[in-house]
Amino acid sequence: MANNYKLTNEYYSLDTVALHSGTEPDPTTGSILTPIYQTTTYRQEAVGVHKGFTYSRASNPTVTALEKRLAAIEGASFATCYATGLAATTALCLAVLKSGDRVIVSQAVYGGTVRLLRQIFFKFGVEADFVDTSNIEALSLALTRPTRFIFIETPANPTLKLTDIALVAGLAHKVGALLIVDNTLLTPVLQRPFEFGADIVLHSTTKFIEGHNATVGGALITNDPELQELFTLTRTATGVIQAPFPAWLTLQGVKTLPLRMIRHSENALQIARFLEKHPKISNLAYPGLESFPQYELAKRQQRTGGALITFEVVGGVKAGIQLMNSVHLCALAENLGSAETLITHPVSMTHASVPVEQRVAAGITDGLVRLSVGLECPNDVINDLKQALCK
Ligand code: PLP
Repeated sequence: MANNYKLTNEYYSLDTVALHSGTEPDPTTGSILTPIYQTTTYRQEAVGVHKGFTYSRASNPTVTALEKRLAAIEGASFATCYATGLAATTALCLAVLKSGDRVIVSQAVYGGTVRLLRQIFFKFGVEADFVDTSNIEALSLALTRPTRFIFIETPANPTLKLTDIALVAGLAHKVGALLIVDNTLLTPVLQRPFEFGADIVLHSTTKFIEGHNATVGGALITNDPELQELFTLTRTATGVIQAPFPAWLTLQGVKTLPLRMIRHSENALQIARFLEKHPKISNLAYPGLESFPQYELAKRQQRTGGALITFEVVGGVKAGIQLMNSVHLCALAENLGSAETLITHPVSMTHASVPVEQRVAAGITDGLVRLSVGLECPNDVINDLKQALCK
């Protein structure tokens, strides 16, 4: 697939930036790793004289180190980290929306994003329109009404449908709307939304960025100092900052992100090729396969196909559930992006809170199976799926 994205930094490659940016050896001990600054407060030299940290609800040195690194790998100026990915989405909405505002959101997005907008922000007078953002006519029509932001997930969780970031950025900016890209599924290693015109990138760092099923966390990244100021204000006012220990674990995880993303994708391509030919598999979607309906867009916008594959099992919902109950090596679990391969039933797990009409419109069928390919030897995963498909 295409490998024509720019490097994060004019001096160092992404591999190096992921290892070194944002941290310095500890000045007092020489410790290579940034310490876990497990502290509530910071002693001040005099009234109004301090080293930039005052209280850990506002900022914390371990969290700041992670923020600098995340901004650097995304090729941006600023990042703020949050307790979870949904805390980042919550802070985003509180920072930029007010009662009476309307937003456009991809029809297929993580279920928790839908629940947050439909069940929480709705109560405060925010209207969310869920639109197929891969359909430019539908999106252009939706944009004829005042819109504060467009929030897209590409590839979408769980259908893997793509949205053309550059095209949508152009449409959003024409009407004065912000474009937010949830880049959780590909990370800046495989997709660089700022180079296509995004204003804000959101991450659930819970997924590939931390990568080891060890934490929950989120981040908002931007080049706009005014947005950054709004995010830091909102985070301090609402108390949704990331804690130092998960920030430290994420700082370690991100070091191997470039290596892991490439291996996740190579493994996923091999497994997708196996599944595509299997007589019991139907409706397989993987953006790295030539058969993927938006393969050309994937080549233009992504470096590789990523780690996620979705499919149905011939025989419908019962057959899909039988597969998910029969795997041994793959873990049936609600997460994606970890070193371990995870298999998920979106309708009963990650997308259970999405209204049925929206699930149907977005193509999230009852029999859909989502595989987040990990770092095991792909043949071992293939053998596990093979035995489970024989049951
Ligand atoms: N965005 C995407 C694409 C996700 O898949 C998820 C969680 O699955 C989130 C956001 C929310 O992140 P968190 O679970 O860390 O709150």
